[in-house]
Amino acid sequence: MPRRFALPLILAPLLLGVLPLAAAMEAAPSPAPPAALARLPEDPRKLDRTVSYAEMEGILRELDGKGPLQLSVEGTTTKGRSLFLVHASRWQGGKASPWKILLFAQQHGDEISGKDALLFLLRDIARKPDLLPEEVDLWVLPMMNPDGAEAGTRRNGAGADLNRDHIGLEQPETQVLHRIALGIRPDVAVDCHEFARDPEEYREKGWAKWPDITFDGMNNPLFSPDLVGTARGWVDTIGGAEAKAGHPFLRYWVGGVPPREEQRHSAPDVDSAVNSLGMYGGLSFIAEAAAPTGKASTGDLGNRVDAYLTLFRTLLAGDGQRGEERKAIERARRRPLPAFLPTNYLWANPSAKVTRFPVLEVSTGRTLRIPTANLMTDLVVKRTVPTPLGYAVEPRAAAEFRRVLDGHGIPAETLAASRSVTAEACMLVRVEEEFDEVHSRYGGRQVVRCQEGKGQELPAGSLWVPLEGEASVRAALVLEPAALYGLYQLPRFRALAGPGGLLPVRRVVP
Ligand SMILES: [Zn+2]
Repeated sequence: MPRRFALPLILAPLLLGVLPLAAAMEAAPSPAPPAALARLPEDPRKLDRTVSYAEMEGILRELDGKGPLQLSVEGTTTKGRSLFLVHASRWQGGKASPWKILLFAQQHGDEISGKDALLFLLRDIARKPDLLPEEVDLWVLPMMNPDGAEAGTRRNGAGADLNRDHIGLEQPETQVLHRIALGIRPDVAVDCHEFARDPEEYREKGWAKWPDITFDGMNNPLFSPDLVGTARGWVDTIGGAEAKAGHPFLRYWVGGVPPREEQRHSAPDVDSAVNSLGMYGGLSFIAEAAAPTGKASTGDLGNRVDAYLTLFRTLLAGDGQRGEERKAIERARRRPLPAFLPTNYLWANPSAKVTRFPVLEVSTGRTLRIPTANLMTDLVVKRTVPTPLGYAVEPRAAAEFRRVLDGHGIPAETLAASRSVTAEACMLVRVEEEFDEVHSRYGGRQVVRCQEGKGQELPAGSLWVPLEGEASVRAALVLEPAALYGLYQLPRFRALAGPGGLLPVRRVVP
């Protein structure tokens, strides 16, 4: 009993005393609170622990307004975290528009080094604005998946793999990225990831994966070959810069151990960022740095950050490539669609070309070059459909499709009155969910059969999406019902199939 009363009696005078003390402390010069930026070591190679979401927010708020940097919050995740965007520009205006670069990282929450490197890049530009060329307009979204970053997971707070959501745009994070990309129309976009340097099947052989960093360009076969080639040119430029900086470099690849297993370059489908951002007409890339002992490990982090900084600085410097690239981008944006749309394509090695594939021998640190004919060299198209005039979406599915079309900046007309057209109806035969060895992809392959075109009435309230103008590449890639990897891999869109699997999108033909 007495002790219960003793406490307030002791505290009361203390509390009374605290108030004037606090006021005095405020008035007196006090040591500055530890600055958020102090979290970043002077030398990026010394970073030994990834920057958390909260630390990143502190850093970005400190950088806001410094030099050419402006911070904004572009959206919120399902768990209520902010999606931060930094815009940096010293462009004074002029005849040509600035060269717009969009860098984004950590779509996969457990792939950390791209984000860390971007924070160093921004810190350095804030201190020395000259590091940003005047003709470059830089946009940085350092952490696309804060919920996954905080949980240490690949997926976002809603359990989705964001890098499979770039066609359906069901998640707030991908919606925000595409809204930004539509607003900016970047000339260059880079999506930053990590891969496991020493997975189990490599360790069994006493090897580790050789490169510190990999990089590749957009490759969907509907893109202008001219632009895809321009992107490949950048892969070589980055490779040269990484080699000079002492970072082993390879063109991006995924797959198993050579010589028996297959390796291939990035997936050509548009449900991942590298090709979906390519739909906006600029150059688009994926980068992956090598993380040791599982993706979540922070060991060797400084080395990966350094490899990423080498990549970013090389991109910003431009290396004298921009004049020709601008022309290639402009040509590609004006290019009409080809007569056939590729719907089924895969990596292959048509001539069984032997490649000497580098791996690291862990015990000696030596580089071994393993001859293999299982590194896929070419993207081959296995099936196409004649390019239609456009697509018509049934009224019952119009709202769902309008959301996706708006998300990708694809204009569509809602028919005020019915319209007579010749159109092909398409049926969803099945969706295959198991891993597929031929396409080297996980589930979601849609098998669709389209009927011969016949005269029919599109009812009022239908959406009409003509394949014309700058958005036609996007419209074809998003809407083509016969695509092997399309919207119907997503349950939300599969549910819109009618009786007999009739899909809500018709191909309107001459
Ligand atoms: Zn990833």
